[in-house]
Parts: sequence; C-alpha cells; structure tokens
Amino acid sequence: MNTELRTRRLLEELRDVRDAAASLPDALVLLDARGGVRWCNRSAERLLALAWPRDRGVILAARYAGHKLGGWLDGGGAEPVEDITAPADATLHLQVTMMPYGHGQRLLLARDISRLARLEQVRRDFVANVSHELRTPLTVIHGYLELLDPEDVPTLAPVLGEMRNQSQRMRQIVEDLLALSRLEMERRLPEDRVTMQPLLLSLRREAEALSHGRHRIALQDEAHCDLLGSAKDLHSAFGNLVSNAVRYTPDGGAIVIRWRRTHDGAEYSVTDTGYGIPAEHLSRLTERFYRVSSSRSRGSGGTGLGLSIVKHVLNLHDAELRIESESGAGSTFTCVFDRSRLLEPESD
Ligand code: ADP
Repeated sequence: MNTELRTRRLLEELRDVRDAAASLPDALVLLDARGGVRWCNRSAERLLALAWPRDRGVILAARYAGHKLGGWLDGGGAEPVEDITAPADATLHLQVTMMPYGHGQRLLLARDISRLARLEQVRRDFVANVSHELRTPLTVIHGYLELLDPEDVPTLAPVLGEMRNQSQRMRQIVEDLLALSRLEMERRLPEDRVTMQPLLLSLRREAEALSHGRHRIALQDEAHCDLLGSAKDLHSAFGNLVSNAVRYTPDGGAIVIRWRRTHDGAEYSVTDTGYGIPAEHLSRLTERFYRVSSSRSRGSGGTGLGLSIVKHVLNLHDAELRIESESGAGSTFTCVFDRSRLLEPESD
C-alpha cells in the first residue's frame, strides 16, 4: 500500500471515530494538560454549553467559575460528581466523570441523568408521603391500645400485649422512614457547636438504660474537643450505634464508647464483644431494611433503618462510617470526622 493511500485510510478512520464520538448522547470533552478544550462533541453544547470549534482552547474551570462544576474542576475532578445541574440548563441533572489519558490530557464525560433524578425524586416523595399518611392512624390505634387495660379482659391479655408491641414497632418504622426522608431532602444541616462531653455522658446513660446491667459499659473521652454540626442528628446517629451494640451483644459482654483524636481529625467509635457480622454482609449493612438476621433484629426491636440513618447523618457532616467486625467476636463501628469539623472546647 502506498503512503498516500495509507494516509487517506487513516484520515477516514479518524473521521469515523470523531463522527461516532460527535453523535454520542453523552457530552465528551477532551482537555489538554492546562485544562483547555482540545475538542468536544455535539452533546457538549446541550449539556455543557460548549460549542466546537468556537470554544477551542477555553479553560474549562474558568468557563464554569461560580458554578459547582468550576469548583470540581479546580479540585482536580478525581471523584465523579453524581448529580449536578447542567451549566446551560438548570432543569437538567448531570453525572460528570473525568478520566486521564495520554500525557496529562483528560477526558470529561457528562451524562444526562435527569430521568433517573426524577424517578429518584418520585421514590423519595412516595416514601415520605406514605410514612406521613400512616403516622396519624397509627398514633390513634396505639393510643386506644394503651387505654385498654389487660386486667379487664384477662383472656385477651397476651393478644393485647402483642398488639401493643407491633403497633409500637410500626410507629418506630414510620418515624425512622420520616427521619430518613428528611435527611435525604436536606442539603445542609445546622452548623452548631455540639458539645461532646455531655453528649457522650448521655449516650452512656442511654446504653445503661437499654442494657439493664446485662453488659459492662465503658466511656473513653480522650479527644477533648467538640464537633461542628447538628446536635440532634449526631445524637441520633451515635445513639443508633450504641443501641445496636447493646442489642447485638449477649449478656455479660462489654461495650466501649470512645471519642479520640486522629492525625487528621477525630473518631467516635462503639466497640462491642457481640455476635459480630460475617464479612459478606458488611458492604450492605447501611442499605435500608438490610439485616444479617431478621429474627434477631426484630426480636430486639430493630427496624433495619438505623445504620441507613447513621450513614446519611455522617454524609451531611462530611464524615464516614467504618465497620470492622468478626463473626462471633464483636464489632467496631467508627464515625470518622475531618479536622475541619472539630472545635476546641470553649474556655470557661
Ligand atoms: P436494625 O434495626 O435491624 O438493628 P440497623 O440498620 O441498625 O438495623 O442494622 C442493620 C443490621 O446490621 C442489623 O439488623 C444487624 O444484623 C447488623 N448489626 C448492626 N449493628 C451490629 C452490631 N453492633 N453487632 C452485630 N450486628 C450488627
């Protein structure tokens, strides 16, 4: 094959690849090492307000300054953005990913996930509405059940007891679902000083009340610092971990609540010597209604929503949940907070 023919073939193939990329429904932008646009496809116009060849060489981070995308690009864009509004059209939701290639070049991919975001919104609204609608009838039924005295009808006493338990369980599920819905809709939580010392003392009291002396409970407050966030939500998340430790540790076991500093922040952890969790379940524990053992969870008053609430609360505090566990030996649940969330105690 002569050189001219080979060049022509190569150019044709190159054009083919470009044409195919140009017609993709996802926006594709090739960036040079400075973050300037080397090429973009047609969807980049609709989704990212970029036009080829008009925007050749435009520095993308500067173009999107003031938009969330600009901040993300400035930060290097290592982690994908799961849901962001499109710079050209605020009604569109995008998922944006950046992949390095060649010598310092990068490929930016933006996908229109508006339909998915709408479905997700419908699901959230549905759960919130159903939970809200169930709340009043359940409160009424529970109220009447509380009024009935088992001594008036001794033959029905066991049935009445079970009905009370179950209605209390349903109320707890509805309350937990409502709490989750609220956390899902919340973009930001209050940023108050959460004084850790009294909070830790009250968590220990709650553990003792739940345990009724069946476990040894210790508190190690070593960090001597406070947190920035929502006191109510952090109390609920930390309390969930304490309650799980008590509920999933057989009598005679030990529970340690610990608050300590790390080299780049601080950690709140709850360690127990309980049943533990087999490794294959660990990655799914924070899913709604996921339980290792349904009977054990129900028997101990669980709703299967506790860890899901913990995860949401931590996300809203830029914190992370770590779970270490060994079946039959016990578990440690750790909430990892970044330094930016710590406050030195106020001097008296
Ligand atoms: P539940 O209301 O069922 O306790 P959670 O979301 O709090 O729901 O926890 C999910 C599951 O994780 C529980 O059902 C249980 O199987 C497991 N789990 C949570 N904490 C512990 C623990 N400290 N020890 C053993 N298993 C645990």
